[in-house]
Amino acid sequence: MRVIAIDGPAGAGKSTVAKQVALATGLPYLDTGAMYRCIAYAADVRKLDIHNAEAMGVIARESKVDVEDTVACLNDTDISHLIRSPEINQIVSVIAAHTPVRDAMREQQRSWISAHNGGVVEGRDIGTVVFPDAVLKIFLTASPEVRAQRRVDQSGGDVAEIAASIAHRDHLDSSRSDSPLRPAQHSHVVDSSIHTIDQVVTEIVTLFEKAVHDYG
Ligand code: C5P
Repeated sequence: MRVIAIDGPAGAGKSTVAKQVALATGLPYLDTGAMYRCIAYAADVRKLDIHNAEAMGVIARESKVDVEDTVACLNDTDISHLIRSPEINQIVSVIAAHTPVRDAMREQQRSWISAHNGGVVEGRDIGTVVFPDAVLKIFLTASPEVRAQRRVDQSGGDVAEIAASIAHRDHLDSSRSDSPLRPAQHSHVVDSSIHTIDQVVTEIVTLFEKAVHDYG
């Protein structure tokens, strides 16, 4: 099974790059951040205590989350347009830090990849924990200024506010005890602030072709 793992902080360009790499390689695309966002949305609408790891684990296990390409469904309802709000950005990393939530999501991610026979998987812990044997592991990063500006270009808003929100999430994602955000062993660290998206995609596709040629 062929997996390309693309990890990195918020706003590094992972989604844009991962979708294009998926198109170029013919592999399906899985956005694991969307899965955590669905759980955050489920907790938010029920007004649950997001700091309660057990309660968050229950909601993660009992929710039916289906993510395909850019569509995210929670219990068979398309909530793609609801999971990228400032409210969800604010709480998702708190919820994603709980081990029972991560256990449930990892299990679903591995099943998804088995069912699809491989994929380009975007997230925070894909190369380190979920698919440590991925044929290619990329850690995509960019300067904080570039990341904040990209988010503003995509969705509008105030640069300083967005930068603060990204920094807050990065801090929670990097400092949690369960699978913190960091480059995986043998990963290729790619800085998207000094390359265009097309260059980054070309580099990843070339690395993938070489890895497949070398390791099958
Ligand atoms: O990628 P995206 O920004 O949509 O991810 C939202 C949040 O989900 C991240 O900030 C992180 O807290 C969590 N996440 C995670 N592990 C992943 C993917 C996302 O903890 N593999």
